[in-house]
Amino acid sequence: MNTIPIQMVDLRRQYLRLKPEIDAAIQEVLTDCRFINGTTVGKFAGHLAQFLGASHVIPCGNGTDALQIAMMALHLQPGDEVLVPAFNYVASAEAAALLGLIPVFVDVDEQTFNLNPAQLEEAITPRTKAVIAVHLFGQSCDMETITAIAKKHSLFIIEDNAQSVGATFRFSDGTVRYTGTIGIIGTTSFFPSKPLACFGDGGALITSDNALGKRLHLLCNHGQETKYRHQIIGCNSRLDTLHAAVLDVKLKHLKAFNDKRISIAQRYDAELKNDERWMIPFRQPDCTHIYHQYTLRIMGGLRDRLQEHLKKRGIPSMVYYPLSLDKQEAFYGCARKSGTLSTASRLTKEVLSIPIHTEITESEQEYIIKSIKEL
Ligand SMILES: *Cc1c(COP(=O)(O)O)cnc(C)c1O
Repeated sequence: MNTIPIQMVDLRRQYLRLKPEIDAAIQEVLTDCRFINGTTVGKFAGHLAQFLGASHVIPCGNGTDALQIAMMALHLQPGDEVLVPAFNYVASAEAAALLGLIPVFVDVDEQTFNLNPAQLEEAITPRTKAVIAVHLFGQSCDMETITAIAKKHSLFIIEDNAQSVGATFRFSDGTVRYTGTIGIIGTTSFFPSKPLACFGDGGALITSDNALGKRLHLLCNHGQETKYRHQIIGCNSRLDTLHAAVLDVKLKHLKAFNDKRISIAQRYDAELKNDERWMIPFRQPDCTHIYHQYTLRIMGGLRDRLQEHLKKRGIPSMVYYPLSLDKQEAFYGCARKSGTLSTASRLTKEVLSIPIHTEITESEQEYIIKSIKEL
């Protein structure tokens, strides 16, 4: 019986590894006592903008706020339609619905799990204003095709990059861009388990449009540039200085952390490929998949049995996501589905994400691989 407690994401071991750096950064904030809008917030935003090659990073309260604020910034109006993938975390569709917009669920590609561009156009109506490209599990959507369709129909592209900070997409002309910098606005989350994460809630908006950058700043801060001068109706959505300090440390390690997960994924690939009981995650050629999740498709209706088996062996696994958004009660009556969404529906019954994180050891991974093969 294995005694090592394996985690989906091992935050404790990662913290212990970075402890001297993180503790020093936190201590600096404690000494300064500027817990809101301290200098580290702007410093971190600048560093992230530089890393991504974007003009503006506007920190905010969390990734869901970021999506809502992005749609507010683009002046989307109640009744406008926003295309979102049906196989997805709830946040993008939820934020749209909260603003009175109509989320339109579009099916996903069975290989990448991301928006299927081939099904995008048939979802478009005269009311369609935006598409939310969610880069799921660490891999970019097909941004070349999505960009072309969006251009043709004058749609805004918002990229939900919560799971993919540091992933890249390569266009056919050879241009390589970080996800989150391709659409008009990118959003991200710094929730503790995400690839770039703080010690609580946090998020950010990314844009290279100067006017939009300014508007996003206003929206995050009660519509004010100078105190008590409110130009527009905004909200209160800020990144705490303590979290910015943690993020500024972790950003320095982001590339190494992403590379670590990529090498773990390569080992899983090598050990688990060519087995008819499951399919290993597809990797788009020439793009960087940073493996926020390593998600298998378990065939033959055996997914739940494998999950149960792993659990008995002390190995956690997760079903991201057990229901497609069109089947979530919250969206009955306030959203629309485009087509049958059959791929999204099938994936919810097949997917299983297994542990992948920066601290996983070789022997832990060996044990996970061996246990999966016992299915
Ligand atoms: C986590 C996540 C969000 C929401 O982020 P919060 O910071 O938890 O609000 C949005 N979209 C995706 C794809 C996510 O994974």
